[in-house]
Amino acid sequence: MNFILRNWVKYYTKEAIKTLKLVTIGSAIVITVVCVKYRPAYKVTISGETIGYVENRDLIEKKIDKYINNTSGNIAFREISNLPEYEFKLVNREKELRDKDVMLAVENLTTTTYRFFAVTSEGEQKAVVSSQEEAESVINEIKADLNKDVDLKLGIVEVYTTDTNVSTKEAATNTLNEIKIAKVTEYEKKKAEEAKKKAAAAARARSFASTATVAPTGNLNGLALAIPVNGSISSRFGSRGGSRSSVHTGLDISTSSGTGIRPIAAGTVTYAGYRGSYGNLLIIDHGNGVQSYYAHCSALYVSAGQAVGAGTTIAAVGSTGNSTGPHLHLEIRVNGTPVNPQSYIY
Ligand SMILES: [Zn+2]
Repeated sequence: MNFILRNWVKYYTKEAIKTLKLVTIGSAIVITVVCVKYRPAYKVTISGETIGYVENRDLIEKKIDKYINNTSGNIAFREISNLPEYEFKLVNREKELRDKDVMLAVENLTTTTYRFFAVTSEGEQKAVVSSQEEAESVINEIKADLNKDVDLKLGIVEVYTTDTNVSTKEAATNTLNEIKIAKVTEYEKKKAEEAKKKAAAAARARSFASTATVAPTGNLNGLALAIPVNGSISSRFGSRGGSRSSVHTGLDISTSSGTGIRPIAAGTVTYAGYRGSYGNLLIIDHGNGVQSYYAHCSALYVSAGQAVGAGTTIAAVGSTGNSTGPHLHLEIRVNGTPVNPQSYIY
């Protein structure tokens, strides 16, 4: 019995070992076949779409991180809409493991925002360059020979954009230079117009000064003065100028001979007669230290000692004495000193 049992165990042990050998060999064959056809790797997907296969997940994640967080040069920041997902599996060896494919897909899904510098004129962006130094250099060049009075308000602003189109320093300078030329032209035109206006105003003032009187007050030492005769001013009070400078002590009013003369105010005749270069002359005393002279008369209608009213016709315009044509030489004296009649009348 013992013998039989022993043989039975022996038999089955032998069979088990045989089976185990077969299983081991079979497994080895299967593993070999699998290893020849497949390898372990990561399938990378973004939003469910396969973008590639990589061997080292850590490495590709680091690469993506580095790419997204890159802020070198003009890059301000990067944003990616969706991050990749990884699935560890056995991958057919026919599929290539390429980090490049994954990076390409990541780059396509990333938006890069750049930081540039715009040169502005009156707050408006005129040219975009890549650095602040360049923008400053453009402004310095434009301002170098610029008239301070030209209203060219230049500035620099930071620009955040996905548009990589920037100007070179030279192109930006050219753009700003055109704006400068336009501004300078505008300024010079304005200045020329102002100068023209000023010259015209000065000419008007000169012509006014040569024809118009100083605004007369109509009042002298409390006396209200009136115009003795209507006519045109042919010679003013004061220096006549010229090489032989002489002083004109009165005001010449030209009008036709025989025109009636009224006194500048009521008064008393102190002189009525012919006196040298004055010709026929009337002198009237108005009191308050004021006297008036009427010279070159063709006729005298009043005589010395006579009191005359303001509206009385006292003489007629003529050209007697030192005179080249009919006019009234009117003199007004204050305490014996001639004053400018145009300060009071005409
Ligand atoms: Zn005169």
